[in-house]
Amino acid sequence: MSPTFRGGEILGIRIPTVFVENDATRCAGCGEPIVGTPFRVTLLDIVPGEAAPSWAIGAAINPGPHQFHAVAEHFRSWARRRDYLFCRLSDVREIMRPIAVPGERPRWGLCDGNHRDAHELVPA
Ligand SMILES: [Zn+2]
Ligand SMILES: [Zn+2]
Repeated sequence: MSPTFRGGEILGIRIPTVFVENDATRCAGCGEPIVGTPFRVTLLDIVPGEAAPSWAIGAAINPGPHQFHAVAEHFRSWARRRDYLFCRLSDVREIMRPIAVPGERPRWGLCDGNHRDAHELVPA
């Protein structure tokens, strides 16, 4: 008997090699199942003391955690669909801070808050 079991039949019991992924975690970016550990991103609340602009109350952010493939582009495509901006000085990290961006069309920017310079928000 071969030492390597490759699926098929063993002692008359069928062993399927393909498992149905009923409860597979799906990537919020591309919608595909995530094999292994998903990359989780949580969006923080506005820091107390930092007044939320009035429009932000109607444009609440879903804090997550949102789950993605561990590829920054998948996070950014998710952010792009929601019309969020992304700080060029930021990396995609497990904790992201929303930044209220007022203007004619108020938007949210996302940043890891890991730099001292002013945010440089660009479309995600
Ligand atoms: Zn993905
Ligand atoms: Zn920033």
